[in-house]
Amino acid sequence: MRELILATGNPHKVRELRDMVEVHGLPLTVRTPTDFGNPPKIPEVRDTFVGNATDKARGFATWLTSRGASPDALVLADDSGLCVDAFDGAPGVYSARFADPPGGDEANNQKLVRELKARGLTQSPAHYECMLALVRVDGGPVFSADTVWTAAGTWAGIARTEARGTGGFGYDPYIYVPKAGDEDVAGDWCAVAELPAAHKRERSHRGRAMAKLFSVLDRFFAAQPT
Ligand code: IMP
Repeated sequence: MRELILATGNPHKVRELRDMVEVHGLPLTVRTPTDFGNPPKIPEVRDTFVGNATDKARGFATWLTSRGASPDALVLADDSGLCVDAFDGAPGVYSARFADPPGGDEANNQKLVRELKARGLTQSPAHYECMLALVRVDGGPVFSADTVWTAAGTWAGIARTEARGTGGFGYDPYIYVPKAGDEDVAGDWCAVAELPAAHKRERSHRGRAMAKLFSVLDRFFAAQPT
């Protein structure tokens, strides 16, 4: 079976991406970088999600080659973040490093609250962005003549100073979306961290980008000789 290797050391992203692939049901074996050794930390030096996602996919592919991964295995990277309207789109690509000094999710969330309050706000429109980049371990063409395939997903909500819920990760306790579904903006709202994991999978920026990957993969596998 063809392998799909998740090019991320973030255990939350691994869980969400793995669950999505398993729920969709494709003839793919999902592997994580730790299956191949001690994964590299690919520096995020670009100022775009697509730049960082592509660097991560290619960086992992080079490392995986040195670890003996199958040349035709697919390598999937995710660069994602939160863009807050009141902060002119920040933290964006710097979401993982929003707090200064860097301190992980807790410190990032504290800064989100601090920055909203500093502007006299309790909330602001915001959205999550996810950019996926897919390459082959050997750097060969994926699906078409291109050596990298990319897809984006966004998820609009509201960033608030009040935290709710224990699910998800990162900024999820502070980002609110319509409880019943993204179209029902007039209904109740809840924090993303309050949503069941299956709802986040279906509605999130990551879920939307993955839906694009699935439609390409479905056609790709359907065209393979049996
Ligand atoms: P990176 O893609 O590794 O640069 O980091 C993404 C950062 O964006 C994470 O550390 C989180 O803070 C945030 N982020 C990305 N996706 C999500 C999500 O689904 N929920 C909450 N935070 C997220």
